Amino acid sequence: MFADRAKIFIKSGKGGDGHVSFRRELYVPAGGPDGGDGGKGGDIIFQVDDGLKNGEPGGKKRCHGANGKDLVIKVPEGTVIKEFESGKVIADMSGENRREIILKGGKGGLGNMHFATSTMQAPKYAQPGQESQELWVLLELKVIADVGLVGFPNVGKSTLLSRVSNARPKIANYHFTTLDPHLGVVDLDGDAGFVMADIPGLIEGASQGVGLGHDFLRHIERTRVLIHVVDAASTEGRDPIEDIRTINEELRAYNPELLRRPQIIAANKIDAVYDDASDPVTRIREAFEPEGIPVYPVSAVSGKGVKELLYGAYELLKNLNQKPVIFEREFDLQTIRTGSNLPFTVEQNEDGEYVVEGPRIEKMLGYTNLESEKGFVFFQNFLRDTGILEELENAGIQEGDTVRMYGLAFEYYK
Ligand code: GDP
Ligand code: MG
Repeated sequence: MFADRAKIFIKSGKGGDGHVSFRRELYVPAGGPDGGDGGKGGDIIFQVDDGLKNGEPGGKKRCHGANGKDLVIKVPEGTVIKEFESGKVIADMSGENRREIILKGGKGGLGNMHFATSTMQAPKYAQPGQESQELWVLLELKVIADVGLVGFPNVGKSTLLSRVSNARPKIANYHFTTLDPHLGVVDLDGDAGFVMADIPGLIEGASQGVGLGHDFLRHIERTRVLIHVVDAASTEGRDPIEDIRTINEELRAYNPELLRRPQIIAANKIDAVYDDASDPVTRIREAFEPEGIPVYPVSAVSGKGVKELLYGAYELLKNLNQKPVIFEREFDLQTIRTGSNLPFTVEQNEDGEYVVEGPRIEKMLGYTNLESEKGFVFFQNFLRDTGILEELENAGIQEGDTVRMYGLAFEYYK
């Protein structure tokens, strides 16, 4: 199956929670706080749903939790990573972009040893680890090749590519690609060479998404020169001139820019032209050379004319200064919300009140005027954004129960 697009879910590791503990030593009646910090969660380059480790919690005696392992997903060059909902580009794994951290693992929380002050010598709170980040992304492979071979099935594209290419850049072996499209490196004499792609399956209606049309057309977006391969001998009854017109029409309908790429015609299978009177190569030349499209008669099977074709393509490439398209980042990764990691505790006292404690809470109450409307709104947002409300709910609070924060006591209503 052709599958060079994949929608996947990625999730970074959560930071480990800071630890709350106190030194216990012989002859030291009340040891100081020694809770260690949580480890950092693993970063994501790519993650297919599982296998990601969270940072481990901090331990006693200042033990730092182990960091979660980063997950590195290997993708073929030319893969464009997009945010699924918006379709915005997150990263284009092409050119210089070899390695991209897409999601950050959560920071580890600080252990209680960090929160001792002169007034609070035995802090019972530690910082929770930062939440993980998650995202649906779309991976699309848009190969980067200098020259793309286009043409209807069975005109000889694969035969031509395998004849002219020496090396095959690695492109298979990835989850979301198959063997298609094939890439090959064409070595000419000296240092000259280029990458050629066999872009299979271009058919009528492709631009409307017929069959796998869009998948194939997408690959053409990043080729610089196009070679139309046609069956000049009409061994299957196809008309080469009509084929070229049809394909150009598909390219135009998909993206008119594509027609501005230089084109060449490989009039293939000339070894199978037995009826000299039909002279298909002359017919093709008369049709397309006035449009500035050169025609090379070739036989991919015998190799005849292939060298001239390759040098023709190379000449065109040399004179192009346009670089392959690299897509810029459009999606701001900062917009992925990560829970705050404010240290606080929620505990119930003997009177059934919910007691919330934490160093920043005390500070916040100090500078917030709850009598003013603005101050009160700020206070409400603070409780929500820091996760305190959620924690109260988790602890089982009911409407009308009392919440106590340092000097402040109030009844809880949603
Ligand atoms: P693709 O679908 O465009 O990749 O076409 P293929 O490369 O698979 O070729 C289709 C058929 O045409 C195969 O049977 C090839 O052997 C044959 N073929 C390809 N090139 C030539 C050629 O130059 N001459 C002849 N006689 N047959 C060819
Ligand atoms: Mg083929």
